[in-house]
Amino acid sequence: MSFELPKLPYAHNALEPYISEKTIEFHYGKHHKAYVDKVNGMIQGTEFENADLETIIKKSDGGIFNNGAQVWNHTFYFEALSPDAKKAPEGNLAAAINETFGSFEQFKTDFANAGAGLFGSGWVWLVKNKDGKLEILQGANAENPIRDDYTPIMTMDVWEHAYYLDTQNARPKYIENFFEVLDWSVVEKRF
Ligand code: MN
Repeated sequence: MSFELPKLPYAHNALEPYISEKTIEFHYGKHHKAYVDKVNGMIQGTEFENADLETIIKKSDGGIFNNGAQVWNHTFYFEALSPDAKKAPEGNLAAAINETFGSFEQFKTDFANAGAGLFGSGWVWLVKNKDGKLEILQGANAENPIRDDYTPIMTMDVWEHAYYLDTQNARPKYIENFFEVLDWSVVEKRF
């Protein structure tokens, strides 16, 4: 199987002023594309040659895992961003967030703290666990919760390449900006 860089459902400048065109050009156009190209090269002639990304995430290690998981993670991240983002969840997801975190505002605070407090490169995830309950998870580098049988419903990239062109060292400012373009209507469909 050969993976392709998915098309973004918005223009490269559509998320401004929160995420700049330049960041999308590098983050999506260079980093995401490089993960696609690398995993496509690495799986040739291996047991993962015809595997889907979920299988690669669950079963592989090393470079194939790192690049395959990064393809999945970035696709999941970019597809939940929108210039017309729904700013808060409703329905079952809103109820589950209130039940687990107390309120939507408290969830955002907890999630932002998990992002600001993650040392080095990685991802912060909102997941459903095996009991159907929500949890916030931190993952280093390319880690993906599918590997541990969680169901991801939302993720935030906190690698420096996600924000350094826009907010430099200020990861908390990037996290604020992320919530301005995170589309909860997409997250609701995944819940
Ligand atoms: Mn990234």
